[in-house]
Amino acid sequence: MRPFVLDPLFRNIASLQGVGPRYGKILERLTGGVRIIDLLWHKPLDGYTRQKVTDLARALDDQNIIINFHVKKHKNPKTRGLPLRVEGEVNGIPLDLVFFNAHGDYVQQSLPIDQVRYVAGRVETYKGHKQIVHPDYIVTNENEIPSFECIYPLTEGLSNKVLRKMMAQAVEVLPSLPEWLDEHLVKREQWPAWLPAFKTLHTPTSADEIALQSPVRRRLAYDELLANQIMLALVRRRQQKRQGKSFETNGTHKQNLYKHLPFSLTGAQQRVVKEIDADMASDDRMVRLLQGDVGSGKTIVAALSMMNAVDSGKQAALMAPTEILARQHAETLKPYFEKLGISFVTLTGRDKGKGREEITDAIESGKAQIIIGTHALFQEKVKFHDLGLIVIDEQHRFGVQQRLLLSAKGDAPDMLVMTATPIPRTLTLTLYGDMEVSRLDEKPPGRRPIDTRLIPQDKMHELLEGLGRSLQEGNRIYWVCPLIEESEVLDLAAAEERFRELAQRFGNKVGLLHGRMKGDEKEAVMQKFSAGELTVLVSTTVIEVGVNVPEATIMVIDHAERFGLAQLHQLRGRVGRGLKESFCFLLYGHPVSEFAKERLRLMRETEDGFVIAEKDLKLRGGGDILGTRQSGVPDFHLADLAVHDDLLPVARDDAKLILEKDTHLQSPRGQALRNLLYLFGLEESLNNMEAG
Ligand code: ADP
Ligand code: MG
Repeated sequence: MRPFVLDPLFRNIASLQGVGPRYGKILERLTGGVRIIDLLWHKPLDGYTRQKVTDLARALDDQNIIINFHVKKHKNPKTRGLPLRVEGEVNGIPLDLVFFNAHGDYVQQSLPIDQVRYVAGRVETYKGHKQIVHPDYIVTNENEIPSFECIYPLTEGLSNKVLRKMMAQAVEVLPSLPEWLDEHLVKREQWPAWLPAFKTLHTPTSADEIALQSPVRRRLAYDELLANQIMLALVRRRQQKRQGKSFETNGTHKQNLYKHLPFSLTGAQQRVVKEIDADMASDDRMVRLLQGDVGSGKTIVAALSMMNAVDSGKQAALMAPTEILARQHAETLKPYFEKLGISFVTLTGRDKGKGREEITDAIESGKAQIIIGTHALFQEKVKFHDLGLIVIDEQHRFGVQQRLLLSAKGDAPDMLVMTATPIPRTLTLTLYGDMEVSRLDEKPPGRRPIDTRLIPQDKMHELLEGLGRSLQEGNRIYWVCPLIEESEVLDLAAAEERFRELAQRFGNKVGLLHGRMKGDEKEAVMQKFSAGELTVLVSTTVIEVGVNVPEATIMVIDHAERFGLAQLHQLRGRVGRGLKESFCFLLYGHPVSEFAKERLRLMRETEDGFVIAEKDLKLRGGGDILGTRQSGVPDFHLADLAVHDDLLPVARDDAKLILEKDTHLQSPRGQALRNLLYLFGLEESLNNMEAG
C-alpha cells in the first residue's frame, strides 16, 4: 500500500484552488494526468529576470521591469473591443497600463488615482508611447514581486501566470520525505535534499538554479534514474529467480545445422553463440538481448539457439513483429529445417479456421518442434506442448512490461530478444537493464560499403536517369516514401503518386507496398520483388524491418530529412546485402535546416549503427530517439538522457548495491526508496519482489 505521507501528491488537481472542471481538463491535456504529482512533473523550460527600473527612458522594449508607477488617469474605451488605459508616470516619464476586457472595477481598485503602486510587466512601445499590457503584478509592497519567474510549456487556454499560481499551491503539498540517496553521493555532488530541490524547480530565483546541469536538476534526474534502475533490477531478479531449464547445447541437430551452413560464423557470431549456450546450459533462466546491426547475421544465431531446445526435446518459438517478417524467417530457415528433419509451423493472424486449428494442434501436441509467427503466437488460445525457448526478433517495439507478460507464457521459457535498432549504451541500460546483453558488432565478410549520397529533391530527374541505366544493368531498387496519400498540408512525397510517376517512367516492373494493404497482398508484392518480377519497389516504411532481398542494391529515400536517423539507418540496411556495390540516395526537400542536413551528413559518413545512434542521441536529446512510444523507452519526467547520461551507470551500480545489501528494501534507506518508487509509479516492481 502506498505510504500515507504521499497521499496529498496523488490527489486530484481539482483539490487545488482555482482548478475547476475547465482548468482540470486543460491541465490534463498539458500533463497527461489528473493528479497533483502529474502537474509537478511538468517542469519549467526557462525563466526571466525582472529588473527594477527607475529611468524609463533606458528600458528596452520587451524587457521585464518593475517600476514605481504614479497613477494619473483612467481612460475607459469609447468603443467596444478597445482596451482600458491607465495613464501614469514613472519618475516623470509617461507610461500607460493597458487592459483588454477589464473586469468590473478591478482596475479602479488596484490603481487608485494619484496613488503609487509597484507594477511589473513587459514594457513595449506603441505609437511612440511606452506601455505595459496586462501587468503581471500591481502591488503596494515591492517584496511581493519575484525578481525571477519561470516559464512553463503551455497549452491553449492556459497562461503562464495561471499555471504558476497552481504550481505554487502544488509545491506546498510536497511532503518532507526521508532521504533515499546515499549520503556520500549527496555530499560529493553537493546536491540539495529532495524537497528543497523540487521546490526550487518550480520556484527558482534564477535561471542558473534550474539549468539542466544544476545541482537541483541533477539531483532530481538522479532520483528518477535510480528509481528506474531499481525497478529494472527487481524485474530482472524476479525473472532469474524462476527456475530455468538446462539445455543440451551440442546435440545432433545443432551439429547438423553447422554442417549445412554455407558459410562459417563470424567471430562475433561465435562469441554470441557461446554466450547464449552458456546461459541455456545453466539452470538459470536466460533473459538475453542480442543487439546486432542490420545484416549482422542474427537469424542464424537464433536458429542455432533454437537447436538447443530441439536437441533437448523442447519446442522453440520465433516471433517477428510483422507478418512479412515471420514469413520471411520461415522461408529462410525452411531449407535447413527440412534437411535436418525438423517439423515446424508458422502461425500469424492470417491463419484462420481449419488451417489455424491444424497449426495450433501441432503446437499443443508437440508435433511442431519449431514455431515461427507473429504476436498471434502468444494469444490466450495458443497452448504450447513444452516451450523451451522464445526468440523475439526486432524487439524494440516491446517494452519491459510486455516482456514480462510474454515470459509468463509457458513454464518460464528461456528468452532471447533480438534487436536491429542500434541503441546507445546509455539507453540500453534504461531499456534493457533487466537483461544480459550480447552484441554482434561485426558484419559477415564480403560486404561492400554502401555509397550514400545526399541529393536535393529538385535534382531528382538526374537521379532518375541514373536509376534507369542501373535498372537496365539488372539492379533492383527500393524507393521509400513517408506517406501513402497526397497531403497538401504536409507536402510529402506520396507513395501512390510516386508509384504512378515511376511506373510511367519505368513501366510495369514497378510495384507498390504500403501499410493499408492486406497481409497476403503485401506478401505477394514482396515475393515478386524478391523474384525479380518487380524491379522497383515503391513503399512506405513497411519495409523498415528485416526484409532481405540481396539483389536489391539501391535504396532511395524520399524526403529523408523527415525520418529519424535510426530509421534511415534501418532502411539503408535493406541494401548492401549481396556482393554487388550498393547505393543509398537520400533525397531532401527545401527548405532544409542546417541541423537536418548535419544529420543527413552523418548518414553519409558512417554505416556504424551504434555511432549513428550515439550521435543522434546527442543531436536530438534522449526524448525521441526511437520514437518513444514505439520503442518502450521510459518517458522520463525529470531526467534528460542527452545531458544526464553520466548519471545512469552510477544509478545502476547504486541500485545493484542497495538490493544486494537490502534484498527486500527493509532498511531505513530501503523504506525511503519505496517512497521513491511510488512517486514514479513504479511500485508494481515492489509487488513482484514480494510475490517472487
Ligand atoms: P540480420 O542481423 O539483419 O537479421 P540476417 O540474419 O538476415 O541479418 O543476415 C543477413 C545476411 O547475411 C543473410 O543473407 C545471411 O545468410 C548472411 N550471413 C549471416 N551470417 C553470415 C556469415 N557468417 N557469413 C556470411 N554470410 C552470413
Ligand atoms: Mg533479422
